Amino acid sequence: EQNFFDIIILGAGAAGLHCAATAARRGRSVLVLDHAKQAGKKILISGGGRCNFTNMYSTPENFISSNPHFCKSALSRYTQWDFIAQVDKHDIAWHEKTLGQLFCNDSAKDIVRMLLKECSDAGAQVQLRTEVLKVAYDNENYEIQSSQGDYQAKSLVIATGGLSMPKLGATPLGYQLAEQFGHSIKPVRAGLVPFTLHEQDKDAFADLSGLATEIQASNDDASFKEAMLFTHRGLSGPAILQISSYWKAGEAVTINLLPDMDAQQALREAKQNSPKQGLKSWLQQQFPKRLTEVLLTREQWPQKNLADYSHQQLDDIATTLNGWQLKPNGTEGYRTAEVTLGGVNVDEVSSKTMQSKLQPNLYFIGEVLDVTGWLGGYNFQWAWSSAWVCGEAV
Ligand code: FAD
Repeated sequence: EQNFFDIIILGAGAAGLHCAATAARRGRSVLVLDHAKQAGKKILISGGGRCNFTNMYSTPENFISSNPHFCKSALSRYTQWDFIAQVDKHDIAWHEKTLGQLFCNDSAKDIVRMLLKECSDAGAQVQLRTEVLKVAYDNENYEIQSSQGDYQAKSLVIATGGLSMPKLGATPLGYQLAEQFGHSIKPVRAGLVPFTLHEQDKDAFADLSGLATEIQASNDDASFKEAMLFTHRGLSGPAILQISSYWKAGEAVTINLLPDMDAQQALREAKQNSPKQGLKSWLQQQFPKRLTEVLLTREQWPQKNLADYSHQQLDDIATTLNGWQLKPNGTEGYRTAEVTLGGVNVDEVSSKTMQSKLQPNLYFIGEVLDVTGWLGGYNFQWAWSSAWVCGEAV
């Protein structure tokens, strides 16, 4: 029958397309449905248009989940090297930017083209501009009512992603269907997202907009040494995005402004060796002028020669420089977040196949699951790995 498929996949994003090609290569008839006008919209804008498609150093430690063991099996069965091999097969040129992050030399469009070619070569159909209206299960098959008509399938794969960037077509459909079929959802929130600041800090940092500096951002759970960027809305840059995924509302973040320096030792030595140097001049050797000014004002450090500070005073300044405490007001939320933390409870899903433990022939892959990667290509790797193990099993 024309409208009957072995597998229907909801979502033509990273995970949905990779799963479709994998399953279709095994001879399954596959239909992918998506409400968007274009497949893989997030891929297209990812990595500044060049798609950071994986990370050479991807390990399970780079993922956040209420069950940190869940991701291990899929990540080890379909690794970054497996995906790189597919990219190479399609002659897509790539390079490492930093920290193992792999980007297309040319354009993220190459990745979408590759995924669509793999689908069409294997015979998987991708149908866009299709609203999913209702999903039902009749104890044998799934019935999908859509704006383009009704479809049936033996198996249903949910690959609708998270809530980040609603402008790009993100919806809660995946969570709603999970709940419809008895699954629980771990609370969702925005991850890899800039911080907003309390009014007072916003005013204090107003002159720093556009300034980037290498820091180490930490809390009790994680620590990241990368750049921080001051913006007119708050704080951004890789170090901030990374720590935002571990941040809980109301907490302070520790920002080491001199991550490669023991400030206490350095200030004591400076006091010894150049007692006539002013604190301001010493700070200017470490920081851009604008940041020095803001630190002096915000921390109310008196402007004296180093010799005129007591050891205790200098140690206090050093403590601030190596462990600046900053309490964000909040985050920018789903509007600008790269990912969604939380999602479909992985304890109710098989880590080997991504199949539901509660409902026959139902699968969840990609970001809709409670697995979230760090910044740096890890989120796509999770999409590829979870999609592949599902595509091999379904
Ligand atoms: P998605 O790729 O989001 O695909 C979900 C699909 O489901 C979409 O096509 C959507 O249209 C469809 N859908 C949703 N709701 C419905 C509905 N109701 N009906 C029908 N279809 C629906 N990760 C990296 O690893 N590297 C990067 O460089 C990177 N850059 C990013 C940049 C930005 C700006 C953003 C927002 C994210 C970035 N990410 C990056 C994260 C990465 O894009 C996601 O983790 C990844 O796309 C998740 O794959 P997915 O297939 O699960 O979901």
